Amino acid sequence: MGLDEDSLDYHRSDPPGKIEISTTKPTNTQRDLSLAYSPGVAAPCEEIAVDAGKAYNYTAKGNLVGVVSNGSAVLGLGDIGAQASKPVMEGKGVLFKRFADIDVFDIELDQANPDDIVRTVSAMEPTFGGINLEDIKAPECFEIEERLGEKMDIPVFHDDQHGTAIISGAALLNATEINGKSLDELEIVFSGAGASAIATARFYVSLGARKENITMCDSTGIITRNRAKQGDVNEFKTEFARDVPEGSLADALSGADVFVGLSVGGIVSQEMVRSMADNPIIFAMANPDPEIGYEAAREARDDMVIMATGRSDYPNMVNNVLGFPFIFRGALDVRASDINEEMKIASARALAELAKKDVPDAVVKAYGDQPLQFGPEYIIPKPLDPRVLFEVAPAVAKAAIETGVARSDLNVGEYVETLEA
Ligand code: NAP
Ligand code: MG
Repeated sequence: MGLDEDSLDYHRSDPPGKIEISTTKPTNTQRDLSLAYSPGVAAPCEEIAVDAGKAYNYTAKGNLVGVVSNGSAVLGLGDIGAQASKPVMEGKGVLFKRFADIDVFDIELDQANPDDIVRTVSAMEPTFGGINLEDIKAPECFEIEERLGEKMDIPVFHDDQHGTAIISGAALLNATEINGKSLDELEIVFSGAGASAIATARFYVSLGARKENITMCDSTGIITRNRAKQGDVNEFKTEFARDVPEGSLADALSGADVFVGLSVGGIVSQEMVRSMADNPIIFAMANPDPEIGYEAAREARDDMVIMATGRSDYPNMVNNVLGFPFIFRGALDVRASDINEEMKIASARALAELAKKDVPDAVVKAYGDQPLQFGPEYIIPKPLDPRVLFEVAPAVAKAAIETGVARSDLNVGEYVETLEA
């Protein structure tokens, strides 16, 4: 049976779907029930009415994330609508639970207009400790996230933007360490100017790359100042419009140190790879087929090509699951009001540092006994490495405390021990 048939069976076997709610307190006696619900439940209500922060003590808020989508940019399937996106959002809940023991309510909104989505999601603030926006199309996703971030006092994180940015950012930190290039001198070319590319370019600048050295291409070619002036591109692309002559991706790539592909498969040739600078970095992350295949890119040149893709069958898989569970774990555990830039940078640095440590045997075994040692073929940790939780969550919590968005005074040292227990 193929993957599709297996998946349909997996999802429809009784009970349909793959998640359920369970209770965490005793519910066996009449007394248990009168604590869980009326009349006993009035006591925590009154406490919270006086101090809203007590919701973290008396309800599940602090371990509950809303995964919110309107189904407008689902996987590679496009605008399939809110109802059809539900298997993906339930799946995101499975990953949150499996990797970080975080509970999720998946919320599929039959809304397209940013005003409506902002109103709906912000009204749900009492329910959740954080909001993971998911699979909402560009450019609306930028405005929705920004407005919700301003309005809400809990973290709002659009994973399609920042997940890729943070994990490929960790990969960039290590790739430059290996090839000895300096972040602020890298010539970086993006293919794609959508949700993930814009956020990734912004994040690389936060990490130390220079905005002036970034060239971004969309389906028409290089995003130039001239195109921006003619009103040919939206305000988010305009942010990266470069004062260069118009041209194609091939023109942009000539002499570049880094290629970042967040567009469509198969659009980069070996010839284009050969035109890049010495020891190039190639992150071809279009799914399911990268902009150029792993072997094709490596075979195109005799020097060192440091390559990452979104695929699990090659080294250096950039997979969001390395990020969101642990970033939210750290943010929730300090009752953060935000996931700010410093917390994102802290998670990228923690991932990058972890890749330099010896990999436990159990992790090596889980990945087919191939040697995993820091170098061009291992620049980011593997998703099933249990140490990712212990490294990323505390780094995020610490950054939240240091930047004043934490609302609990967690001791980070003790926190690491509780995570490992
Ligand atoms: P998006 O918002 O729809 O953006 C897609 C971008 O690709 C658009 O800017 C589009 O140009 C551009 N594009 C389309 N055809 C192109 C071509 N022939 N040449 C150059 N650019 C082209 O999508 P997204 O969410 O950012 O995702 C983009 C890709 O990255 C998808 O393949 C996705 O699977 C992949 N991705 C991978 C990961 C990972 O972790 N591996 C994470 C996120 C995304 P226009 O603006 O002109 O339409
Ligand atoms: Mg997504």
